[in-house]
Amino acid sequence: MASIFTQIIQGNIPCYKVAENDDFLAFLDINPNAKGHTLCIPKIEVDKLFDLDQETYHGLMEFSRKVAKALEKTVPCKRIGMSVIGLEVPHVHVHLIPLNHMEDIRFIQKTEMSAQQLEGLAQAIASHFEG
Ligand code: AMP
Repeated sequence: MASIFTQIIQGNIPCYKVAENDDFLAFLDINPNAKGHTLCIPKIEVDKLFDLDQETYHGLMEFSRKVAKALEKTVPCKRIGMSVIGLEVPHVHVHLIPLNHMEDIRFIQKTEMSAQQLEGLAQAIASHFEG
């Protein structure tokens, strides 16, 4: 069965889209560690980061860098943190998290955001994305 992220790519499940090109998609994490927590994924469904082919791996890193730049322009923070875990969703995803405190990257503390806030934030980040 297709992963939940493949279903998002196919448009069967909605997301708060931040950026997209032919090969990659970025959208807000629905249970964010911090405001602006974004996931960057390849459109091909591969479980583990280091199993990606070299071109997709480098492409994902470059796409994530551009998304991080847009995030930095949108969300006040000390820096953008990056993490790859994948214990919950078996489809490669890079977590980009605006950091102010070490807790922001620990996946313990979560930030409540309404659907309206997530939608507005996704649009604001998207407006700063330079593909
Ligand atoms: P992990 O696989 O451990 O890196 O965590 C998966 C991440 O995906 C978690 O931070 C979830 O909140 C996030 N997540 C799961 N389903 C969705 C979804 N439908 N839309 C956005 N984020 C999601």
